[in-house]
Amino acid sequence: MIKLVRGFKDVLPAETALWQHVEAMIRELLENFGFAELRIPALEHTELFARSIGADTDIVEKEMYTFTDRSGDSLTLRPEATASVVRAYIEHGLYAKSPVCKLYTIGPMFRRERPQKGRYRQFYQVNAEVFGLHDPRADAEVILLLMTFMDRLELSGIKLHINSLGCPECRPRFKDALKSFLAGCSEQLCSDCLRRRDGNPLRIFDCKVPACKEAMQDAPSILDHLCNACQRHFYTVQSALERFHISYETDHSLVRGLDYYTRTTFEVLAEGLGAQDAVAGGGRYDGLVKGLGGPDQPAVGFAIGLDRLMELLVGRAQGFEKRPHIFIAALGPRAQDEAFQWVQDFRMQNVRVEMDFEDRSLKAQMRRANKLQASYVLIVGDRELEDGAAVLRNMNTKDQENVSVQDLVNVVVKK
Ligand code: ATP
Ligand code: MG
Repeated sequence: MIKLVRGFKDVLPAETALWQHVEAMIRELLENFGFAELRIPALEHTELFARSIGADTDIVEKEMYTFTDRSGDSLTLRPEATASVVRAYIEHGLYAKSPVCKLYTIGPMFRRERPQKGRYRQFYQVNAEVFGLHDPRADAEVILLLMTFMDRLELSGIKLHINSLGCPECRPRFKDALKSFLAGCSEQLCSDCLRRRDGNPLRIFDCKVPACKEAMQDAPSILDHLCNACQRHFYTVQSALERFHISYETDHSLVRGLDYYTRTTFEVLAEGLGAQDAVAGGGRYDGLVKGLGGPDQPAVGFAIGLDRLMELLVGRAQGFEKRPHIFIAALGPRAQDEAFQWVQDFRMQNVRVEMDFEDRSLKAQMRRANKLQASYVLIVGDRELEDGAAVLRNMNTKDQENVSVQDLVNVVVKK
């Protein structure tokens, strides 16, 4: 038997109703906040990710699904959405219509990571990006959106961490301070981090190797090195969060796993997920649009990991399945034939209805109706047809009543 590829998974019907519910909630919220959906392809030129995410990141160094197309082009299954959204924003000149542009996208991402709890090689993200706003209230607004969503999901044990990564003005000064500190850590750092130390030392904050994490505990804080403008920006983000009663913790080690961030970064962590406890992350990336060949437009956004979110919601799947409103238990060939017509008529009126084509015993058909958790069962045999009345049974109260078979569908729909 051919099985799933390692690290991939199926989302089964028992779970999809909850997925759809959660996706509908976030779509509604995003649209209320002024976002429009963008659909981007799963495949892009490799260079798009190499240039945006950064060559020294885990994603680009070891996690991308990259292959050479028959035409010789190097293509990659998208490991994240921001790069593609920025590409589309530039390619279609979306900035020309209005510099302020709010886009969201929902779909699968691909990273060849070590499969484990909360870590898959295909996982789903909701992505939101705001282009064209320098104002720190834009950062606060996307965080507000995210935290409102968490709130509506009634999740407990949710924490928001925020940081500022500075800008091209102040970050180089911090890099120098960090390099001086790291010069004394040669013994502790892993080989990847030793290599990153000169070119991209901030990356070391994101290393998952315990010895590197330990070494970084005494590292200098970027928050002590921000220029005045970055300090003001970060201060305004925090005041806005306080104004809307969003609690947060500042975490100077929060650099995120992608190189394009500037100023604000944030992550939402959830209790009960074990080691992979980040459900969402994001930040500002003012240099990326220009860096990918577009106009000099600032941007801020986030990604929510739906798979981990669904893990937090297990046990809530019940109540979201789409059960039939009516099951028609038809007994005998004439009743079966009549029922087949009713089924179609009900469906045309958006009533969820099922019947049994096998013409089994009433007991067997009632068993199936129970299994499907139908709200009503309509019982009709050839004799009921002759008498002109079928039996409608309410499966919750067990009450039964007769309904005329003349115009039956309309009569039942009215009920
Ligand atoms: P982590 O630190 O857990 O590796 P990340 O920083 O690599 O996360 P992002 O690129 O910020 O993740 O993606 C945003 C969200 O997508 C994460 O918070 C997480 O919920 C989800 N996510 C990322 N990688 C995976 C994965 N391999 N499997 C499932 N969900 C993932
Ligand atoms: Mg990761």
